[in-house]
Amino acid sequence: MISGSVLLIGAGGLGCGAALALAAEGVARLTVVDDDVVDESNLHRQILHDAASIGAPKVESLARELGRRHPGMQVTPHRGRFEAATAAQLLVDHDVLVDGSDNLATKFLANDAAVLLRKPLVHAAAVGTGGQLLTVPAGGRPCYRCLFEELPPAGADAPSCAEAGVLGPVPGVLGALSAVEAVRLLRGQTPGFAGRLIRYDSPSLTMRTIRFRRNPLCRVCGDRPNITSIDQSAYTAEECT
Ligand SMILES: [Zn+2]
Repeated sequence: MISGSVLLIGAGGLGCGAALALAAEGVARLTVVDDDVVDESNLHRQILHDAASIGAPKVESLARELGRRHPGMQVTPHRGRFEAATAAQLLVDHDVLVDGSDNLATKFLANDAAVLLRKPLVHAAAVGTGGQLLTVPAGGRPCYRCLFEELPPAGADAPSCAEAGVLGPVPGVLGALSAVEAVRLLRGQTPGFAGRLIRYDSPSLTMRTIRFRRNPLCRVCGDRPNITSIDQSAYTAEECT
């Protein structure tokens, strides 16, 4: 068993891949946050859910399946969004945050909450036939916002709810890689993806690394940060249809 705990956002394709790998690695405690229910159209990529779970909350389905396979692991389902009002309260009790959400508002919130609480964050995103990974060390420097700066305004042409158009196995691959990184962090090893944006492309089977540095103007980990607490109005959630 690996002592320590992971807070996982998302029980969809990325979250299922991450949770399965974390369990297989022997992580002692996992809390998973998601507000959605299992749909038949999810099953090809959300590998911990099955036909019998259609209509059930994804966090319950995931916890049940992990419990069956790994009874020694403590899995806590948290049904609801990862949202500004409760982000800090959820995160404070965990060692590592893994973001397997499918919308940008949650990704910015996860980054800011992790930096402010000085918890390491493993970010994963799946889009189309590929996706990306990066790690934000405890306290940032650099963080996700050093690279992507601002949440695009609502309605802007940004990939939201991207997982809906994702090729089946892709989020599982990215989720598993995010779990490998989370285990490194739990073991106190140097993170593999800090200051590196890893871009995965499945058709060409390539991983491209884009190195980036701390942005001195970053609003949360720069020289003069102006995000010093979680402002609930700053993260507008996008609705998936
Ligand atoms: Zn930053």
